[in-house]
Amino acid sequence: MIFEIRKHGFGWAVFEGGKPVTPEVSTRHLAETKRDRLVAERQRRPRDCLRCGAEFLSTGPGHRMCNHCRQVAGEVDPQMVP
Ligand SMILES: [Zn+2]
Repeated sequence: MIFEIRKHGFGWAVFEGGKPVTPEVSTRHLAETKRDRLVAERQRRPRDCLRCGAEFLSTGPGHRMCNHCRQVAGEVDPQMVP
């Protein structure tokens, strides 16, 4: 996926394919935060947990165990904190 951060209206927005995909925000930094979140969301896909075999929503290649097993293993992904 290719996201771009551009000026939009009086602020900034994240664009994909030339169209804004986020609301306008006041700073480029806020738009970058939204872009990072979009990228993380796009990388999520169902995987089978390496440890218990349960299906869970993975946030990327380094995320191979379900939340329960990650807690048991002491591996905490900051992206998963609500
Ligand atoms: Zn598991």
